[in-house]
Amino acid sequence: MKAAVVRAFGEPLVIEERPDPEPGPGQVRIRVEASGLCHTDIHAAHGDWPVKPRPPFVPGHEGVGLVEKLGDGVTHLRVGQRVAVPWLGRACGRCEHCLSGWETLCEQQINTGYGCDGGYAEKMLAWADFAQPVPAGVTPLDAAPLTCAGVTTYKALKVAGVRPAQLVAVSGVGGLGHLAVQYAKIAGATVAAIDVTDEKLELARELGADIVIDARAQDVGAELKKHGGAHAAIALAVNPAAFEAVNSGLRRGGKLVMVALPAHGTIQVPIFDTVLNGTSVIGSIVGTRQDLDEVFRLHAAGRTRVIRETRTLDSVNESIDAVLRGEIKARIVFDLGVDG
Ligand SMILES: [Zn+2]
Ligand SMILES: [Zn+2]
Repeated sequence: MKAAVVRAFGEPLVIEERPDPEPGPGQVRIRVEASGLCHTDIHAAHGDWPVKPRPPFVPGHEGVGLVEKLGDGVTHLRVGQRVAVPWLGRACGRCEHCLSGWETLCEQQINTGYGCDGGYAEKMLAWADFAQPVPAGVTPLDAAPLTCAGVTTYKALKVAGVRPAQLVAVSGVGGLGHLAVQYAKIAGATVAAIDVTDEKLELARELGADIVIDARAQDVGAELKKHGGAHAAIALAVNPAAFEAVNSGLRRGGKLVMVALPAHGTIQVPIFDTVLNGTSVIGSIVGTRQDLDEVFRLHAAGRTRVIRETRTLDSVNESIDAVLRGEIKARIVFDLGVDG
């Protein structure tokens, strides 16, 4: 089987022919149909973060495909069933976090395409308990971005406790932001979308944003305050200054939810304003299996739209370059469904 492999940090990925991986106990082998390109994969390939993966490895945590082989003890999945393999490849199931519905914080977790091989391949392994069934009505190409970009933004809105009649600011309208806008609308909120390109602001409008703010020309905090300030701000732009800008636009009691992960970054949180206004700063990382199930069900019900561009896995390096140049409107998905 073919796989795109990181052999050394910062080097182009190498397309390699590898033997089919054998599922161990509790695992399944999946014939990958579609695999999304998330910015985290680029950080993984560059070794950007303090905890690094170990090359050689296959990145990708938006892999979707058909179960091809069951490992020992797997009884709840069947061969031919479509599943998605998210960032949370496995969690321990026993710790405080796992037991309290916060498996995403499990310290024993293994992350797909980081701590084990991921979805940039024709075949991949997954732990069966964390391979999320994809319902009928969700195509593999749509399921891929939902598996990380979708669940991550959906969870961020849950963490913010967004309710109808609230104002939600979405900072950054890309692969994540275009879905965040839609989930905020589904939650009943008024949505202010912030970006720095006409194309993305237009996309936000098209997807239901009520207010768009062009951060090149407008003061984000002041614009949000004109509308009373945001109850929640979802920070998705990979730029610490954008976090600060949107934080300054919170209303009293508002919540800044940090989601984007710049390679390095610190923000200034003004103590006086934070104390007096009772605002919160919250980090939010991906989502649980339950969150992903809800994301898929919303999509199957026709309530979300995935904006994506499909490419072949062979184009992985050009695709990464295009993302880094900011040329991609929303999400690149590698289509592995056709070439056998
Ligand atoms: Zn991701
Ligand atoms: Zn755990």
